[in-house]
Amino acid sequence: MILIFLGPPGSGKGTQAQYLVNNSGYVHVSTGQLLRKEVLAGGPLADEIESKLNSGKLSISDEIIFQLIKNVISENVDSDLIFDGFPRTQNQALALENILEVGKHKIDLVVDFKVDLAQLLDRVSGRFNCKICGSVYHDVNKRPEVEGVCDSCGSNQFQRRSDDTVDVMKTRVEVYQNETVPVGEYYSQKGILKSVDASMDALKIREVIEEYLKQIGL
Ligand code: AMP
Repeated sequence: MILIFLGPPGSGKGTQAQYLVNNSGYVHVSTGQLLRKEVLAGGPLADEIESKLNSGKLSISDEIIFQLIKNVISENVDSDLIFDGFPRTQNQALALENILEVGKHKIDLVVDFKVDLAQLLDRVSGRFNCKICGSVYHDVNKRPEVEGVCDSCGSNQFQRRSDDTVDVMKTRVEVYQNETVPVGEYYSQKGILKSVDASMDALKIREVIEEYLKQIGL
């Protein structure tokens, strides 16, 4: 099963993906998270990737992104996957189809998270995540159930992303509008795109997604 979560930064894709990981055994494939892991691992490309991540632009080469995606797919051949933050351009969408065809997979559903810019700036400026498992929290809207302890993995290590600032956020949203909105149109023409109003609370969004999954027999 292959799901894609499309939506601007801060639209709640990561939170919904985490729910499906915890409750239905999906593997969450976030290219942003994979890139941040590369930076933490400190390999030969770490410095280059870090400076590009902080720009908010899609300046990481497709070659690097495709390699990360191929690695995850080959390490999880029997798992259901949720792609979050990939594909972000039409070129990446076409490449994903080729990569999936090799393993005889297909995209089952694309969920488009729709939300307005003012709300995004507020969500992103309060956002932090678990350093160990990546679960996403918010200063006001979603604190851990036990203060200082990650709900998903029990870690007490949290961090904030260096690109979650208002200036970088504006660039990220602009890039999303120019590069990624056409990807949604592409999937809409293929008849596999469903939209969700991502300004609703997380529980409501979850119910809509669960309904979409039911509609395709999941
Ligand atoms: P995200 O965590 O999805 O918001 O991604 C953080 C940053 O990683 C983005 O602003 C981009 O610089 C980079 N990035 C993530 N996914 C991709 C992708 N599919 N293609 C190019 N750059 C990406």
